[in-house]
Amino acid sequence: MSDRHHPTAKELEQFASGELDDVLAIMVSVHLGQCHRCRDRVELMQQQQAEQLSALIPPSEFGDDELARMLNRLEDAPSEAPAAPKPTEMEFQGRSIALPPALAGLVDRAGPWSRVVNRLWSAPIQDHQRDYQLNFIYMEPGGSIAAHTHKGKEWTLVLDGTFSDDSGDYGPGDLVHCSESNEHSPRSEKGCLCLAVIDAPLHFTSGLARALNPFSQLFFKTGG
Ligand SMILES: [Zn+2]
Repeated sequence: MSDRHHPTAKELEQFASGELDDVLAIMVSVHLGQCHRCRDRVELMQQQQAEQLSALIPPSEFGDDELARMLNRLEDAPSEAPAAPKPTEMEFQGRSIALPPALAGLVDRAGPWSRVVNRLWSAPIQDHQRDYQLNFIYMEPGGSIAAHTHKGKEWTLVLDGTFSDDSGDYGPGDLVHCSESNEHSPRSEKGCLCLAVIDAPLHFTSGLARALNPFSQLFFKTGG
């Protein structure tokens, strides 16, 4: 994985401290389920945050005895591991795709699938609190999206299958960032299901596709 496949350092930091908004937190947690490197970094950040927090508590607050009693209570607490949450299922084109449990809420809120263009499908996700356009996107095998840049930011989390663009190949768990500076034309040989978050409409740049720019509005509307 290159750096473009992972959450940014800032996003990991915000995730570790619980400051990342709910939508991006879901995307990052799905990524962490697949990426040791980022999981280790988040654990380290959380340890450091806990140490900083305990350093803030003045020593006079807890007498040694009291602290020992508190630690004992924590150790005595039942340590049963909670049952692992079940994966959530998404039905699409006659097949059922198992998705990470963190996505259950989004799958429940996804609207009907509709064909955006040729081999590209989208299912909008309603009721989110932010100005994001949030969609499940499915590219059929051989599908592609015309070259475009972004007026804002785009996060694409690969859920199933693979896609490629000018800078690389992406598989399940990869979180791809795009912004104004990235022009790309994603394509998928074998089909790909993604969760895509856009905070402003796409802006198409290539020849024929420029005529499709109204499509960017259409595409954007599918989210909300
Ligand atoms: Zn990672």
